[in-house]
Amino acid sequence: MPIASVNPATGRTDRTFEPHDDAEIEARLALAAEAFESYRATSFDERARWAVAAAELLEGELPVLARILTMEMGKTFAAAKGEVAKCAAAFRYYAAHAEAMLAEEPVVLDSGTGAVRYEPTGPVLAVMPWNFPLWQVVRFAAPALMAGNVGLLKHASNVPQTALALEELLVRAGFPQGAFQVLLVPSTAVAGIVADDRVRAVTLTGSEAAGRSVAEAAGRALKKTVLELGGSDPFVVLPSADLARAATVAVEARVQNNGQSCIAAKRFIVHQDCYDEVVDAMVAAMAALTVGDPMDPGTEVGPLATAAGRDEVAAQVADARAKGATVLCGGAAIPGEGWFYAPTVLSDLSPGMRVHDEEVFGPVALVYRAHDVADAVRIANDTGFGLGASVWTTDPVEQEVVVAGLRAGMVFVNAMVVSMPELPFGGVKRSGYGRELSHQGIREFCDVKAIRRA
Ligand code: NAP
Repeated sequence: MPIASVNPATGRTDRTFEPHDDAEIEARLALAAEAFESYRATSFDERARWAVAAAELLEGELPVLARILTMEMGKTFAAAKGEVAKCAAAFRYYAAHAEAMLAEEPVVLDSGTGAVRYEPTGPVLAVMPWNFPLWQVVRFAAPALMAGNVGLLKHASNVPQTALALEELLVRAGFPQGAFQVLLVPSTAVAGIVADDRVRAVTLTGSEAAGRSVAEAAGRALKKTVLELGGSDPFVVLPSADLARAATVAVEARVQNNGQSCIAAKRFIVHQDCYDEVVDAMVAAMAALTVGDPMDPGTEVGPLATAAGRDEVAAQVADARAKGATVLCGGAAIPGEGWFYAPTVLSDLSPGMRVHDEEVFGPVALVYRAHDVADAVRIANDTGFGLGASVWTTDPVEQEVVVAGLRAGMVFVNAMVVSMPELPFGGVKRSGYGRELSHQGIREFCDVKAIRRA
């Protein structure tokens, strides 16, 4: 079946690509293995020159690339431009810091001298999602390439143009042939590629189901995995917070990327003493959002990326409503062309409702009333996920209680959760394991070599 790039705002197919056949996959794996042997020997300075050149190309071609993102998966053009700029910044960051992050570390021993060295692992397969089609790939590729690994990208089937644009851009930036290649393959081909001896490790960002399947294949082949999976992030608001600001950021955190972000705040847990004020403000702001053409500068929420994704959100909301949830605004798909869903707020939620138990990948906010701080932490942790969390309070004691109590990979205080090169990114529980970004991220795909000189 061809790999198709379909515009979510219209439902019309823009371009199709034939998947790579077995011979092409073999050629790309062979090239990756061969390229790694010479690429690993390049210096940090050389790699940094190519990474900075990649950043310059991303910045120089920013609107062209951003348009591809918007046309393929529907994020607003403004968000797409921000994503391209962020990718450039990540290349610059790792160009500047990779050498220091991977510097040999001396170790004090009782006798002799010790050291720890970080060496590149080899060709790494990256299985990536469509929601941040450039950023997800770059936050893997920039550190991996700076560490001396080569990358093989199996991108989500609905964003082939973004994948191919990045492959071509990295070649123009000067990275050697084979340092970063796209595999245009369906997900059914992934297990076979993971099993191939030339692939040394796998990173996957995506759903739990995909994570299980890739981890299983990697387990059979005894290969390392990093899994960045879903989330149902809590956003806790306590009475001492700047409540107006918290409500504004709550809406931004929920509808970013048209509601399709793993770290979007999804469950809003509001202390009873400020519940009405915060929830009323959120509902008013959600209902007032401008939904429409993602290329229009006035649009705040574009379409969902696929028809199936939109139908899934509709089914989750219908399930909640049937089980007693209250719809405070929205609650339906928007008729007409494209895959739009109305910004929605739901209350009166309970376990057993799909929206409570699963990740909701669309502009749907779930509000919960907490009796006190301990109750807020209990509700926040009442999920199988543990990706990000946001807490709003000006009380330093409360801040520490909540930060310490939350089972999450990332906690942001008086701010929404975002990814940034300086901080490790990843989750606990069913949100996955391993970390991207920061020095933890670059070391995930390095072999640790312990050395003792007697
Ligand atoms: P997805 O359906 O799991 O797809 C992600 C990638 O995995 C795609 O390349 C997909 O290929 C591939 N894939 C799917 N099933 C597979 C299988 N059984 N074996 C091997 N590969 C498989 O997820 P998505 O819908 O693209 O993305 C949304 C999900 O990603 C959400 O759950 C979101 O929370 C999560 N996410 C997590 C993070 C994080 O950092 N934690 C960041 C962003 C997104 P095809 O497209 O060909 O099916």
